[in-house]
This record gives sequence, C-alpha cells and structure tokens, in this order.
Amino acid sequence: PDHSMPSDTIQDSTASLPPGMVLGPDGKPCRTCTDWKSWSKIGKKAKTTAADGRDSSSSSTSTFDYEAECPPDKEVLGRATWTFLHTMAAYYPDKPNAQEQSTMKSLLSSFSQFYPCGYCAEHLREEMKVDPPKVESRMELAWWMCGMHNKVNEMLGKEIFDCNKLDERWRDGPAD
Ligand code: FAD
Repeated sequence: PDHSMPSDTIQDSTASLPPGMVLGPDGKPCRTCTDWKSWSKIGKKAKTTAADGRDSSSSSTSTFDYEAECPPDKEVLGRATWTFLHTMAAYYPDKPNAQEQSTMKSLLSSFSQFYPCGYCAEHLREEMKVDPPKVESRMELAWWMCGMHNKVNEMLGKEIFDCNKLDERWRDGPAD
C-alpha cells in the first residue's frame, strides 16, 4: 500500500481539509504527519478569520525560522529521527553481547510503536515484520537501517542512498 500519506483512518473527515493536511487519531490536525506548507495553510485561515477579519497573515516576516521556533512537522521530525537512528547504528558495538542485542531490538520495537507520525510508524512496523532488525553487529544494524530508510526514500520518490557511504555520512566524515 501507499504509505506516503495515510490511507484509511481519517478518510471521511478529510474532504474539507487543505491538501496534504492529515488528522491524527484524536481527530485533530496532526502536525507530525503533515508538512509545514500544508500546516501553515490552516494557520493562515485561522488568522484571517480571527478578530476583525483582516488578513493578519501578511504580518509574517522573512526572518521567521520555522525549524528553530516551531514544533516539528513531518519533515523536520523525519530528518532529526533519521539522524538519531543512523548515528545510533554507527556507534553500536561491533560485537554486541546478548543483552545489548536484546535492548536494541526492544528499542526499535518501542520506537515503531510511538513514532509520532502514526502512518509512518505503521509503515515501519509492517516493514519490520517482513525484514526484522538485524542487531548482531554494528555493520548489520547500520545496513539494515540504511535499507529501511531507502524503502521510505523510494516510496517518497527521493534519491536512494549508497549504503557503502554510511560511515562517511554518519561517523567518520569525508576522507581528507
Ligand atoms: P531524510 O530522508 O530525512 O534524510 C536525512 C539524511 O539522511 C539525508 O540528507 C541523507 O544524507 C541521509 N540519508 C538518506 N537516505 C539514507 C539512507 N538510506 N541511509 C542512511 N542515510 C541516509 N515521510 C512520509 O512522507 N511518509 C512516510 O511514511 C514516512 N515514514 C517515515 C518513517 C520513519 C521511521 C522516519 C524516521 C521518517 C519517515 N518519513 C516519512 C519522513 C521522511 O523519511 C523524511 O525524513 C522527510 O521527508 C525529510 O526528508 P529529507 O529529504 O530532508 O531527508
């Protein structure tokens, strides 16, 4: 199924929503499932209908830095989370003991339950059923994570990352 947008949960209530806007399980707009451009449309709508009806949205300034000042949307959250996941994999032990392997498995399982973009999490859980996390070594985990990310990249039409460059990107930096 296409998980780049949610499928079933909110279909009936989406008709009047701005394109790209997604509702969460509570029936309210879900910021972490929506990109900022779609999100800002409701912000503007709310401003224009507020108070005396003047369009106060024109007061937004060019110095406004969404990423630094606002709660994360789907894109910001995604970038931050991939940074965490790939960096964690890059520093995972080369030879993890049984306890470390078990902890990593449960971390990823819990993560896929609580990731705040619900349909992204659902997609991840489905992928993890087909291809469970490989936690036997640092390289195995890093490559597994790379593969998971590439599945999302492919689904979203983004560039496929060369997993041979994992250490350069997430641990060692470019060679001098
Ligand atoms: P990102 O995809 O966030 O990547 C950040 C950086 O990671 C890139 O600049 C690149 O240097 C590096 N990178 C890219 N690919 C790889 C790779 N394979 N291995 C290692 N490093 C890599 N968005 C949706 O719209 N629908 C979804 O279903 C969805 N599911 C997601 C599931 C998870 C678990 C996460 C963490 C995010 C999900 N997202 C989803 C968000 C999406 O993946 C992106 O994070 C978001 O669109 C921002 O993309 P970006 O182009 O800035 O770079």
